[in-house]
Amino acid sequence: MYNIKADLHTHTVNSGHGYSTVDELARTASKKDIELIAVTEHGPSLPGGPHRYFFSNMSILPEEMYGVKILKGIEANIGNKGKLDLNESDLKSLDFVAAGLHYNTGHTLSNKKEYTKATVEAIKNPLVNMITHPASIYYPLDLEKVVKAASMHDVILEVNAGSFHPKKKGARGNKNLTIKLCKLARKHGVLLSLNSDAHFHTQVGQVHHLFDIIKEAGITDENLINTSIDKIETFLEDNRLRKISV
Ligand SMILES: [Zn+2]
Ligand SMILES: [Zn+2]
Repeated sequence: MYNIKADLHTHTVNSGHGYSTVDELARTASKKDIELIAVTEHGPSLPGGPHRYFFSNMSILPEEMYGVKILKGIEANIGNKGKLDLNESDLKSLDFVAAGLHYNTGHTLSNKKEYTKATVEAIKNPLVNMITHPASIYYPLDLEKVVKAASMHDVILEVNAGSFHPKKKGARGNKNLTIKLCKLARKHGVLLSLNSDAHFHTQVGQVHHLFDIIKEAGITDENLINTSIDKIETFLEDNRLRKISV
């Protein structure tokens, strides 16, 4: 139904609670006709997350494995006042910067207003390309404010398919919030990315169980950035130019 060509949110063993390697992710992506993956390990403040040197060294990875383009990335943790848990020069060395709110990462944010404010601050950071799981029930956000900020600052918002994983304990996915996010993104012209958030290689590109939900919200391939590698590359080039100016 949707022509998914890329997965912009994946984890490996290096995140501390992932169970596959970059090689396995790439190989599985290739078998599933996924043409590009972003390897987005959790930022250093998540227990078990890699040290900052891990991120500055990611450039040693090949550009492409098994015919799959590899973006070297991070899922940085959003802290108080929207601060990320990796310094600017290390963030700049990466191809793709995602950011999201997570437990046990040192922030003291405690309600919707604070989660929203921190997320909007992260969106304003020119080094941030995508916000992960904005429709999470764990960190409820004022979605209208977040979508408007994403529109203004040209940031991708994620539809996180992993949140609906049936085997995941305490799944954070919520159909109504996801539909609301999709409708607002359409209204304000914000690009969405339908990602797996894979923590095991078989989950790469596993997003099909969300098709009915996003269809109900009127989403088409046009609204999704990960239906075209060209769209992703153009977006990243525009964002790279923004980074230079930081
Ligand atoms: Zn996350
Ligand atoms: Zn993740």
